[in-house]
Amino acid sequence: MSLEDFHIGLDDIDDPSGRCTTHFASLLVELLSKQSVEWLDYPNLIRLNPGIPFRTRGNGAVALRFKAQSETISKLIPLIEQMIRDYADETYPNTNPGLVVITGKVSEEIRKFSKQALWRTIPIKLAQRIIERYNITHFTLGNGRGLVGALSAVGNTLDKDYTYEYLAYRSMDQSGKRGVNIESVIEMDRIMGNRVFSNLDDANRIMIEPHGPDPVLYGIRGETAKDVIEAASLVTSTQGVERWMVFRTNQATGEHLSNQVRISDLRPYMAAVVRGYVDQSPQIFEGGFVVFGIKDDTSRIDCAVYEPTRQFRDTAANLHMDDEIKVHASVRPKSRTHGLTLNLEGLEILYLAPDIQLQNPICPTCMKRLKSAGTGKGFKCAKCGHRDPKGKKIENQIERKISTGLFLPPLRAQRHLTRPLSRMNMNNTGNPVDLVDIWYIP
Ligand SMILES: [Zn+2]
Repeated sequence: MSLEDFHIGLDDIDDPSGRCTTHFASLLVELLSKQSVEWLDYPNLIRLNPGIPFRTRGNGAVALRFKAQSETISKLIPLIEQMIRDYADETYPNTNPGLVVITGKVSEEIRKFSKQALWRTIPIKLAQRIIERYNITHFTLGNGRGLVGALSAVGNTLDKDYTYEYLAYRSMDQSGKRGVNIESVIEMDRIMGNRVFSNLDDANRIMIEPHGPDPVLYGIRGETAKDVIEAASLVTSTQGVERWMVFRTNQATGEHLSNQVRISDLRPYMAAVVRGYVDQSPQIFEGGFVVFGIKDDTSRIDCAVYEPTRQFRDTAANLHMDDEIKVHASVRPKSRTHGLTLNLEGLEILYLAPDIQLQNPICPTCMKRLKSAGTGKGFKCAKCGHRDPKGKKIENQIERKISTGLFLPPLRAQRHLTRPLSRMNMNNTGNPVDLVDIWYIP
């Protein structure tokens, strides 16, 4: 019997009451490891287009890649299907688990499909067509949407930039406060430096601890598997770690924003970079969101910033007409109250238009600004009575309140895929050849 390469894709095995696709993946890794499969990679956690609305939480799918005997895997598949049935909460209508099992090399068509899923909406039918054409072993519940993510996870082999995440899980019967110790996180962050990222926000609030009912106790993101495992050994929590696993992931790479799109080509739910000039000054609306307009050679569109904290929103509010910018955004479809709109998740200011204000001239005697002497009558000094009937207003360039550069919302408002400022010049390339000895504990 010969060994073959397998790629298992999983998606949407989660629901709001506390299940989670990555947690299920850790159960599956435990099962497969008992069959002595040879792991080819860490489990891949692939985040897909974050702008898509019909999804639970972070739009993350998982791929497992390993060598095994075909007979072993064929025998396991019915068991895995039953595991999904038992795990997924079918009473929740928005859970539509998907599983695909691909043998051999990942085809170019699946890679292309996966690239699309990072920034477009993909019809379920398209996934089903690929599955039929290549006769791919698969399993799904509900409307089959999970197949889109499952195929996409397999198709993204993380050949460009990537990062790692260590996910610690509590036991499924635990709920309530996880009690991750803040001092331990601050100390971990200090010791690890830039080998890990996004642990704490500007106000030293913990970013590694989720708040929902899911089994994730905490997640630590970093540049290598070794780094995130070391970092996790420094973190303490009141609820215990029942199991943990290291994922290789496209998180924090900005991979969803690889496409610069002309305004006339934008479609609902796209994730895109749009370059243009401000053609409508920012307006601040009740509730604190800011709307401004941009145009390019093809059309114009409104941009909205819903930033919950002030800084990012204030930057947008200080844009002026004719500023040249690139916005990182997802496209909100039009509604009764607004047209197609870009929801901003990042703002690159390329060029600031000069802010010129016209002012009255100065009195040569008193050095005070002259007052208008009436329409067409020039200016006069209120103090000494000096008159300047032919005087003209002078142009005065006002310093802009913002500068060029890239601006992002604070960490807690960033997408999983957003490349944080701390990783701007970091790039991991080349798939891992050897895995660290211990990368999960069941
Ligand atoms: Zn004067």
